Amino acid sequence: MREFAVFWGCTIPARFPFIEKSTRVVFEDLGATVHELAGHTCCPEGTLVKANDEDAFYTAAARNLAIVEKAELGVVTPCNGCYSTFKEAASHLRSDWRSRERINERLATEELHYTGDLDIVHFAEWLADTVGVGSLGAKVTKPLWGMKVAVHYGCHLLRPQPAVRWDDPLNPTKVEELVAALGAKVVDYTTKMQCCGGALDRVGEREGSLAFARRKLYDVQNEGADALVVVCPSCFQQFDLNQAALQRANEDVHVPVFYLSELIALAMGHAPAELGLDMHRVPVDSFLAKWEARTGDKQRLAEHFDVALLAKCDSCQACKDDCPVCKVDPTFQPNDIIAALLAGNLDAIVADGQLWKCLECYTCQEMCHSRIGMADVFRQLKELSLEGGHGPESVAAAYAEFLKTGALGKPREGARKKLGLEPLPEGGGDAIARLLGANEPSPLSAEKE
Ligand code: SF4
Ligand code: SF4
Ligand code: SF4
Repeated sequence: MREFAVFWGCTIPARFPFIEKSTRVVFEDLGATVHELAGHTCCPEGTLVKANDEDAFYTAAARNLAIVEKAELGVVTPCNGCYSTFKEAASHLRSDWRSRERINERLATEELHYTGDLDIVHFAEWLADTVGVGSLGAKVTKPLWGMKVAVHYGCHLLRPQPAVRWDDPLNPTKVEELVAALGAKVVDYTTKMQCCGGALDRVGEREGSLAFARRKLYDVQNEGADALVVVCPSCFQQFDLNQAALQRANEDVHVPVFYLSELIALAMGHAPAELGLDMHRVPVDSFLAKWEARTGDKQRLAEHFDVALLAKCDSCQACKDDCPVCKVDPTFQPNDIIAALLAGNLDAIVADGQLWKCLECYTCQEMCHSRIGMADVFRQLKELSLEGGHGPESVAAAYAEFLKTGALGKPREGARKKLGLEPLPEGGGDAIARLLGANEPSPLSAEKE
């Protein structure tokens, strides 16, 4: 569905026009034709309207959907609440024909008719199922490389089944796949599937609502995520606006929050100012600064390594337990070194002595189904380590000796003679010294001088 009506709901235009802005940007960049239809009302919101009058709830929902049907379109909404209302109403009106007929009699006075014959799609669902993860990834011009992002789905994107029927209601993956397509690393966290608790605010339970937000935000922060991404304006309100309230109360929680379209628009090359990211209550500057720095790190890493291969190794970890060094020295973790490289810590890795523990035994290469092996990565890191004036002195000293003499030790002539061994022929030390420029100081000795 590339042509559809968009249903913004009440919350986005009223409170978060910057979410509307980035969503429009994403629709445009992905080639969607979006229709804005007149006459829509609140979806309506469940807690406030359905609890008061179920019939009013279904009538208003059917009316909104009938307007879309009259335009012969489907509808896409970036709000979990609207999505849930529409899905629930569609499910109810499909099974309860009496209710449908009663509502349609009312709608007829406005020349509307609800048949239920339309697609109701959430923005994230549209991205995952219509655009597709691959096509989305192909549009990324500035990947979120090295950034760790936690995902909050929000209850009403997934439940109740069977009304919704999109991703797994208890173990979803689709929004994570979208975030990964932008180049970010998805961070799992214990409370991922817990409700944001925002609805408690609407029934006067402020403290309870803050407790929900606090719990999830600390959980995300403790996992080292650089940001939390949501697909619902109410969830955004809970984690951005209410996080700002927690900060005012001196809580040590600092998690930038993004609506999904904002992250996508950034990864497609749009500027933060164009998207109005400065309108968030919790500043996103730390995220943007880290992203800039890590993008620079990646460019530097790519000068020395095949980054895609490193990423493969990092996510695989299959040969981890076969490395003979790990068996005797658990402080040597080759996969952690690869992960640290991908996190942009090239300088720290090169300066650290750990990489010299790799024996270059090639066990990892033999075990690797993709024949990647990490030994070559370690060899290259060792070169960079020496170039930077790091590395064990013994290695630099041995190399200096080799450059001068072409050998790593003088023959023990006395012992050889005692054993009746003939003197060895003249070696090629002078020739190798001339060839390799023995008089040039080694990088390590140059550094030490
Ligand atoms: S997580 Fe909160 S705001 Fe989001 S859908 Fe659930 S109750 Fe609504
Ligand atoms: S070397 Fe091969 S088996 Fe080992 S972690 Fe990397 S990809 Fe996996
Ligand atoms: S080559 Fe290095 S990383 Fe690979 S198994 Fe041998 S010691 Fe471990």
